[in-house]
Amino acid sequence: MRKSVVAIVGRPNVGKSTIFNRLVGERISIVEDIPGVTRDRIYAQGEWLTSTFNIIDTGGIEIGDEPLLMLMRQQAELAIDEADVIIFMVNGREGITAADEEVAKILFKSNKPVVLGVNKIDNPEMQDKIYEFYSLGFGEPYPISGSHGLGLGDLLDEVVKHFPENDAEDKDDDTIYFSLIGRPNVGKSSLVNALLNEERVIVSEIEGTTRDAIDTHLHKDDQDFVIIDTAGMRKRGKVYETTEKYSVLRALKAIERSDVVLVLIDAETGIREQDKKIAGYAHDAGRAIVIVVNKWDTIQSDEKAMKEFETKVRSHFQFLDYAPIVFLSAKTKKRLHTLMPMIKMASENHEKRIPTNVLNDVIMDALAMNPTPTMKGKRLKVLYATQVSIKPPSFVVFVNDPELMHFSYERFLENKIRDAFGFVGTPIKIFARRRQ
Ligand code: GDP
Ligand code: GDP
Repeated sequence: MRKSVVAIVGRPNVGKSTIFNRLVGERISIVEDIPGVTRDRIYAQGEWLTSTFNIIDTGGIEIGDEPLLMLMRQQAELAIDEADVIIFMVNGREGITAADEEVAKILFKSNKPVVLGVNKIDNPEMQDKIYEFYSLGFGEPYPISGSHGLGLGDLLDEVVKHFPENDAEDKDDDTIYFSLIGRPNVGKSSLVNALLNEERVIVSEIEGTTRDAIDTHLHKDDQDFVIIDTAGMRKRGKVYETTEKYSVLRALKAIERSDVVLVLIDAETGIREQDKKIAGYAHDAGRAIVIVVNKWDTIQSDEKAMKEFETKVRSHFQFLDYAPIVFLSAKTKKRLHTLMPMIKMASENHEKRIPTNVLNDVIMDALAMNPTPTMKGKRLKVLYATQVSIKPPSFVVFVNDPELMHFSYERFLENKIRDAFGFVGTPIKIFARRRQ
């Protein structure tokens, strides 16, 4: 399923990030217990009624020291390239400026749906400030106040109306979609090429299927795969494409469409802070993950070296303790053949369903082994558990009081579930719900 993407465009200081934070709500500040896992503030998930969508704050992508008009043009182009619906924000207190008109001109030519938000209309008396904005040519201007949270409902009603009818891209269920993420020069392109040239791999077609990435179909050992390759995509020569935030945004969009994400690490240069951040996105998104240590040809390789490197990876990526590690060389193709089976296994675990009775046998055994915690004289009671979804496998545990479910006990249950059912390569989620 591809979520619709909404981009917010507008001059500096009209209130884009204020609105972005409101639409995203508390989600953005949710940082998991695990260090290194946060979302980038330029791209996040928003919700309105029954729709969930992704929002881009184009203002958060610092394009450089361009003059204002140039900057606005680039922001508008970025929004047109990346979004299904554009929120064009203006400042109701200042009226229309030359930069607003510049943006309007570009958006108008694009044929993308545009919803005009007039911000800083903080009280009803200011309502008549919005009329002059009809002249921008995008129909009804929606009065909003980012700082007071007013008018957002009407604006979003309009935005949601323009979402493409069928949000699902035609995803064939048996096909495994995967992407490669990692710092520049870790070898993403080299690995894609190596995979495509591997023996007994049939590359059926290479096409520019989506606007985000080049999708390559390949078939190996009776399994269809699609590689979502964002790295191979930079070439249109737009200024914003060279910024770091934009490459992060691209990676996030690729992760979104993937079943499995390969997190590439360069054996030669070692693990960097940025590697963790990138891996954190994939973990946050609940994708299956395989850690690939590339350039293994540069290491004097023996069992010991591999063990040592693995220890390093494990200590840096504690939140990915479920992810298998593959050591290989895209250049010499050494150990390359171990990768595809690993991707397949991770994907199978990502969509694995555990029957409720079998799950509960395991949970009851776990309860017998390790008594539930108490808090203020009250003991956690676990009634039963059931798997509610896949990709990633998610479990609801019904309890007397969710407050009593301590993180460490949840972790204990997760480990028992993993011991019993495997789930190598996939995160799993556990939610405690009240049931008397
Ligand atoms: P951006 O540069 O477009 O992302 O704008 P910001 O969200 O950073 O906001 C710029 C300034 O406008 C900040 O000082 C905000 O507090 C202020 N601001 C944002 N929304 C409103 C609003 O609805 N009313 C008023 N009066 N000020 C606002
Ligand atoms: P990307 O930016 O992540 O797509 O990285 P590239 O695929 O462009 O590779 C960056 C550099 O690393 C190139 O010079 C590659 O030849 C080199 N490289 C890629 N894979 C390997 C490998 O397995 N071993 C060695 N020694 N070099 C590699």
